[in-house]
Amino acid sequence: MATAGKVIKCKAAVAWEPDKPLVIEEIEVAPPQANEIRVKIVATGLCHTDLYHLFEGKHNDGFPVVLGHEGAGIVESVGPGVTEFQPGDKVIPLFVYQCKECRFCKSPKTNLCEKGWSRLRYSVMSPEESRLTCRGKKVLQFMGTSTFSEYTVVNEMGLAKINPAAPLDKVCLLGCGICTGYGAAVNTAKVEPGSTCAVFGMGAVGLAAVMGCKAAGAKRIIAVDVNPEKFEKAKVFGATDFVNPKDHSKPISKVLEEMTNGGVDFSLECVGNVEVMRSALESCMQGWGVSVMVGWTDMADFSARPIQLIAGRTWKGTLFGGFKSKDGVPQMVNAYLDKKVKLDEFITHNLTLDQVNDAIEMMKHGQCIRTVLSVSPQ
Ligand code: NAD
Ligand code: ZN
Repeated sequence: MATAGKVIKCKAAVAWEPDKPLVIEEIEVAPPQANEIRVKIVATGLCHTDLYHLFEGKHNDGFPVVLGHEGAGIVESVGPGVTEFQPGDKVIPLFVYQCKECRFCKSPKTNLCEKGWSRLRYSVMSPEESRLTCRGKKVLQFMGTSTFSEYTVVNEMGLAKINPAAPLDKVCLLGCGICTGYGAAVNTAKVEPGSTCAVFGMGAVGLAAVMGCKAAGAKRIIAVDVNPEKFEKAKVFGATDFVNPKDHSKPISKVLEEMTNGGVDFSLECVGNVEVMRSALESCMQGWGVSVMVGWTDMADFSARPIQLIAGRTWKGTLFGGFKSKDGVPQMVNAYLDKKVKLDEFITHNLTLDQVNDAIEMMKHGQCIRTVLSVSPQ
């Protein structure tokens, strides 16, 4: 390709500081170094974790940064030593690496990888490892991905080659939200046939958790959200009951306990709020209930009475739905192509990268499930 080995100048949405709109800038994307791949991003979703970094987490050392970690694209060029990818391959960048060699990758018990960006800091790649520059300044790569850019550079441990038949403007959602929610139900909670489940938060992650509960054979799936406009979508993915905490004066765990004769078998927190995490745990049946934290926050400690666990409940968390990323993402792409998982139904808006701030505002105000931004033409 004509651009191989050269710096590419392209468009990206740069977050210069917390709490401010992103700025569409021309950035420079360095050629891939050893074991790296430069990817032309075709489409990207916007996930709440991008908003978390911008508005809630506010890590001052995390800026300037190019956000976006739910993208799909095409390999433009590869660095020395890369044999797994070739220019033209369709790919999805992965924020959880899978090196296949470390003790975590070799264990079936976890999807963490010792070599990922997460060993450095839990949200951005260090400046030395970022290949992005803007106005002479190094720009960090959020979660090692930076999909709000026409081009990005990723490590080969953090990239999945996918079926060439996959539509990139749909399967981009498998880069984060949908695998996270679906896997939280099937891999982490291990929802059982005939069980009763409650999912808190009906964003894309929670809706995907509902879809996972249904796929696992749950007979009753209770959707909990403070925004009742989300319930129509929840039905599409298999929710059977709908609860708005604002309609009740008693704690939501009591409401669910009464609805289910003692509590749910499985609960999944897909909001990112420590109070909701506690409610989700307390909504579980004693003896065997399993609650999974999916929502993302490191702003506050969580708490609960020890008796909740002593009485036999289990509290777990999940990163990327427990999927070993390089193996799991291509399988989920094929499951979508085989019509075994839904993706189109999550997409409420299609915009362009220039309109990223509109997408952010919509998510902030609960007016969308997923907005897919088209980034570069295919
Ligand atoms: P979203 O903003 O689209 O959805 C959040 C939903 O929660 C909204 O529908 C909102 O109305 C609802 N909500 C807010 N407060 C609530 C409450 N008190 N009770 C019930 N519902 C409430 O977000 P999303 O993109 O679906 O992401 C959901 C969460 O998952 C975020 O915290 C995100 O950071 C996290 N996440 C975690 C991982 C992981 O690997 N663990 C990956 C992706 C996203
Ligand atoms: Zn995400």
